Amino acid sequence: MAIKVKTKKVVKKEIEHCCESMDYFLEEKKVSIYYNPIYREYFIGLKSPRNGKLVIYNCPWCGFEFPESLVDEYHEILESEFKIYCNSETGTYYEINVDSKGKSNEFYVDLPFDFTTDYWWKRRGF
Ligand SMILES: [Zn+2]
Repeated sequence: MAIKVKTKKVVKKEIEHCCESMDYFLEEKKVSIYYNPIYREYFIGLKSPRNGKLVIYNCPWCGFEFPESLVDEYHEILESEFKIYCNSETGTYYEINVDSKGKSNEFYVDLPFDFTTDYWWKRRGF
């Protein structure tokens, strides 16, 4: 008599970050831990000030050392290559235009598309 053995297909999910715990907690949003792919930055969200963040350098679960945040490079490249500046209070981006009378005006701009995702640093090999 043949014995039927039920086999369960185990689909192993690929780990996106350093470990299963990090993937889980980033997805579940139960703890205030976040990843900003644009800056390649892991951080803890603060209760105060609102939207405050505390950048972390190692995974709290597995201890993995994260690659350095690219927040400085991000703004440096926007300024040097695109003449786009960030208003640190509002988080909006602007260019400076000098009119015929020599008066400089700030006007708001949309970011280059590459800079709205992690594509800008992946493309540059950071
Ligand atoms: Zn980890």
